[in-house]
Amino acid sequence: MDVPPALLAALPDARSITVLTGAGISTDSGIPDFRGPQGVWTRDPAAARLSTIGAYLADPQVRADAWRSRRDHPAWHAEPNAAHAALAGLERAGRLRALITQNIDGLHQRAGSAAVLEIHGTMREAECLACGLRTPMPEVLARVDAGEQDPPCPECGGIQKSATISFGQPLRQDVLDASITAARECDLFLAVGTSLTVEPAASLCLEAVERGAPLMILNAEPTPYDAVAAAVVRGPIGETLPRLADLVLGAAR
Ligand SMILES: [Zn+2]
Repeated sequence: MDVPPALLAALPDARSITVLTGAGISTDSGIPDFRGPQGVWTRDPAAARLSTIGAYLADPQVRADAWRSRRDHPAWHAEPNAAHAALAGLERAGRLRALITQNIDGLHQRAGSAAVLEIHGTMREAECLACGLRTPMPEVLARVDAGEQDPPCPECGGIQKSATISFGQPLRQDVLDASITAARECDLFLAVGTSLTVEPAASLCLEAVERGAPLMILNAEPTPYDAVAAAVVRGPIGETLPRLADLVLGAAR
């Protein structure tokens, strides 16, 4: 791992690590990313329409397509990988300040992470866009399987959607505020498997750097923040993140 000696020596002293994860941490679990070379939106630009709130509200066909896409999402059959497990281990050891994720797949929680800030929401619940009722996603998908193309809210009849942040929807302010605070208060910021091109998630890195915390980036591709990072690690995340966690925990292999 190509890490400057001073940072390497400081890793066992990191007591308050904030982590930001993106799609790249889940690709080893069989969930394709969106913007990479094999990404969902790279291969099928029209798929992004399903995640755009205006189109979703205006077009029943977009909603029907979106429900089928949710039902067929690979996350329902995916297992957390070694990188998810490594972050759960850091949390159990009391070394994490926060785990912020851009992912909606819920794999961090499945790996045992408890305090996850899901800045783009979760696909594991449905939310009524009229009354805000939240329902476990499998209950709504069972209605889709039973033949409903666009299951309305059981309380008010409103349009339902996965409890994710679509294009055109604001982030939840409480989650964003907690994420910014965690970035400002950490002693090490790890950006893992994210292209750091989506704001405001990406600029969380700067919040940390501007307050003196070293930034480490673990990602397959270059990011716009590589120049301000204390270290950039390019290897497979399923290998590099567990190794990094071992260095923090003083259990280097
Ligand atoms: Zn409702």
